[in-house]
Amino acid sequence: MNKEKLFYLITYGCQMNFHDSEKMAGQLINAGYKETNDLQQADIIIFNTCCVREKAEEKVRGKMGEIKKLKDNNPSILVGIGGCMPQQEGVGKKLLRQFPFLNFVFGPHTLDVLPALIEESNEKQVLALKKDKGDVPILPVKRKSSFRAWIPIIKGCENFCTYCIVPYVRGKEISRPMQEIIEEVNQTVKEGIKEVVLLGQNVNAYGRDRGEYSFPLLLKEINKISGLARIRYMTSHPRDFSYNLVDVIAKLDKVCEHFHLPMQAGSSKILKKMNRGYTQEEYIELIKYIRKKIPHSSITTDFIVGFPGEEDEDFSQTIKVVEEFQFDSAFMFIYSSREGTPAAKMADSVPQDKKKERHNKLMNLQQQISLEKNRRLIGKDVEILSEGSSKKESELIMGRTRTNKPVVLSGFLPPGDLAFVTIKGANSHTLFAELTETP
Ligand code: SF4
Repeated sequence: MNKEKLFYLITYGCQMNFHDSEKMAGQLINAGYKETNDLQQADIIIFNTCCVREKAEEKVRGKMGEIKKLKDNNPSILVGIGGCMPQQEGVGKKLLRQFPFLNFVFGPHTLDVLPALIEESNEKQVLALKKDKGDVPILPVKRKSSFRAWIPIIKGCENFCTYCIVPYVRGKEISRPMQEIIEEVNQTVKEGIKEVVLLGQNVNAYGRDRGEYSFPLLLKEINKISGLARIRYMTSHPRDFSYNLVDVIAKLDKVCEHFHLPMQAGSSKILKKMNRGYTQEEYIELIKYIRKKIPHSSITTDFIVGFPGEEDEDFSQTIKVVEEFQFDSAFMFIYSSREGTPAAKMADSVPQDKKKERHNKLMNLQQQISLEKNRRLIGKDVEILSEGSSKKESELIMGRTRTNKPVVLSGFLPPGDLAFVTIKGANSHTLFAELTETP
């Protein structure tokens, strides 16, 4: 029996990975382990990794020195690496060779047997990496938040953007049965959850593997659930984001007016090389339609700069789109070649200093736009969902608008409570407010 054995989970990457960690914790607690937030106290240390960019992998490798010291001091500690990193072709074996003190290595398709893996690794080193088994097992979940629940609706991705490793590690698209998702949301609302975030590498493809796109229908069904305040979803793919979906969202009171639509590049030539499946014009028409149908919505995006073959003219297309269409905010990355992706075979033609120069230019421009857009909200009353006390300043409260803008305010508002606040100030990332009234 594993009485009193403590496990420490460290997670990198996307929300899907953070939810996978909630499933790992749920299983381990059911198996009699206890979670600790103190690495020094841990009997079992688990890294849930990401490989979407080189940096994410470097962070894990950078931690191995510290872990080796812990194991040298206490050889009975078990250490495991899971998630997308070891699921890449040959990487699991490589990690065991590079870090022989590791006890178990597993992937996104074997996290449902984690307790057994840990048991087995008491005897010998375990490598459990299976290709996608084509199912989405229902697992116990230990949710991190008391008011927000991550709800996976589809796993895997078959869009094969040329720079992306996800389809090779997360496997093919598998949508969960709609009834199963609705039951899970109902259950979470009974447990006090106010906001659900529907998760998928490409949520808009929900149902495609079952022969019919049904993300709009799923939203309609979840919107009927009483006691639920807000519905969010991530990540969307502009190619699969239909106008009909915009029309449906415009009529659903719980679906938040925030659209995260990764554009990735402004130039249609580069979008083609990325295999994104839409042109600059098609993307622009989509956000124009959203703004016509839901004028007060926020639109955020992702950009990759320095993709192979990106000329000055291509980059100026990105700048033009950002200047003209004014995103509320954007995640901006420098292209990172991922072994095993088609783009990795393309000549990485943009010099590193040029990549940095473009990245800085885009960051500065977007920061200015985000600041101006946030400042336009000063004096406005907006509804926030409280996330409890701020991590940075515990006497302050953090909340989030329906347009997904972080808000900081003084006073007391329990996590999960809704309230109206008046915006008093803003910077490019955060709004500063005072409580107006509690509805
Ligand atoms: S849609 Fe493209 S970028 Fe997103 S996970 Fe799928 S392949 Fe990767």
